[in-house]
Amino acid sequence: MNWEIVMGLEVHVELSTKTKIFCSCTTEFGGAPNTHCCPVCTGMPGTLPVLNEKVLEYAVKAGIALNCDITRYNKFDRKNYFYPDLPKAYQISQLYLPFARDGHVDITTPSGVSKSIRIHEIHMEEDAGKLIHSPYGDATFPDYNRCGVPLIEIVSEPDFRSAEEVVAYLAKLKSSFEYLGISDVKMEEGSMRADVNLSVRPYGSSEFGTRTEMKNINSFKAIERAIAFESQRQIELLESGGTVVQETRRWDDNKGKSLAMRSKENAQDYRYFPEPDIPPISISEEMIKELTDAQPEFAHEKLERYVADFGMAKADAEIITSSKHLASLFEKTTELCGNPKETVYWILSQIMYFMNERGVLPENITLSPEKFARFIGIVLSDRINRQTGKTVFEAMFFADGDFDVEKYIVENNLEQVDDTDLIRETIKSVFAANPKTVEQYKAGQTKVTGFFVGQTMKALKGKAKPDTVNKVLTEELKNL
Ligand code: ADP
Ligand code: ZN
Ligand code: MG
Repeated sequence: MNWEIVMGLEVHVELSTKTKIFCSCTTEFGGAPNTHCCPVCTGMPGTLPVLNEKVLEYAVKAGIALNCDITRYNKFDRKNYFYPDLPKAYQISQLYLPFARDGHVDITTPSGVSKSIRIHEIHMEEDAGKLIHSPYGDATFPDYNRCGVPLIEIVSEPDFRSAEEVVAYLAKLKSSFEYLGISDVKMEEGSMRADVNLSVRPYGSSEFGTRTEMKNINSFKAIERAIAFESQRQIELLESGGTVVQETRRWDDNKGKSLAMRSKENAQDYRYFPEPDIPPISISEEMIKELTDAQPEFAHEKLERYVADFGMAKADAEIITSSKHLASLFEKTTELCGNPKETVYWILSQIMYFMNERGVLPENITLSPEKFARFIGIVLSDRINRQTGKTVFEAMFFADGDFDVEKYIVENNLEQVDDTDLIRETIKSVFAANPKTVEQYKAGQTKVTGFFVGQTMKALKGKAKPDTVNKVLTEELKNL
């Protein structure tokens, strides 16, 4: 039988506000255990939570970006459960009136499937702490620093049919939140975590199968592996006459397996009730308008504009818009130097190389658009050639603080050599030093020309103007 995979995602995103959702503790990642806590976020009796205004602002920004209806009057609810990572024994969340509903995210997969994933709702809630289990198996150490870090949870409809669609969706969320500046969206640090609900059904069936839920998978690769494993497990179970049990499973990426964790809980298991300590929130039309007007230009919009306005290749535009920081460096530099092509050339040839080979992260790039633009001006004015340009670019890119491109070129004697006589003399001495190659050329092996160019360049320390070298070499070859 042919099976279809059906998936719905619940994605938790930590908002990058300075302070927690209901108290003024820092949200900073790390820190010595239990040092970013206070009586409010550890749920001491008698304390009162107060909603952080920034959290609401960031959340609504996300809701608008994902095309949701913003709930003008929304509320918090208590989700009760006992677990050592939650000292209050309840999590403040939103069940009955989440702040955003009925949105959609448009995706295109690498194999060309374009579709719209419906968003059921987005709610605000607080994160729980972390449990660190002793490697000796005899103790667990709770760290409550993460308690009360603001989260939004984005619940999709069961609209995914392949791992590729899931990854495209997560990449789009990640990019949107990065451009919005509301989250670090680092899956490795847990600031974006995905739960995958998955079921299978015979192709053509209109009913959904029973689903399992895999919690907190923290990389795109792991998600692909988890989906492949779990869908296969369910198919084999059904084909051998078994039934899928609705349960929560843990994906163990090292073992490459999903393992049963607990049976699926229902809303009633949590004894939800309205949070009595926080008044309902009313969101004004002005606020919605203001936050709608403040939406940034997102990656896919930039991509279209770069292709249309600058004639950029789509693949290049994809790379540059893959990071807000790269896109901003590109735009500002282009504005200053007036040459998008040249800016793209240096980003793709040099910066991408540093990112891939040396682990440079776009958010850590310190090169200013001003320096970058001045550098491009120098290359275009023929003061240095492209080869030397790479050396200069690298020095400039990794320099900390003051770096004067002009001074660097002069001090290191890197200016382009365009002296025809000097180049001619050099070529002649290259001929003299390589009589065998000269004979080969005379015998009709014209491919040795490249060797002469290389030797001449080398003799002139890579600084000669390539056009002039080619021109003079052609003349001298005729004289042989
Ligand atoms: P619950 O209230 O039990 O958490 P929801 O209806 O909120 O369940 O669904 C949770 C997630 O599971 C949603 O993302 C939804 O799209 C997805 N989902 C629901 N039913 C299925 C199914 N049969 N197969 C795959 N995903 C499903
Ligand atoms: Zn606190
Ligand atoms: Mg749910």
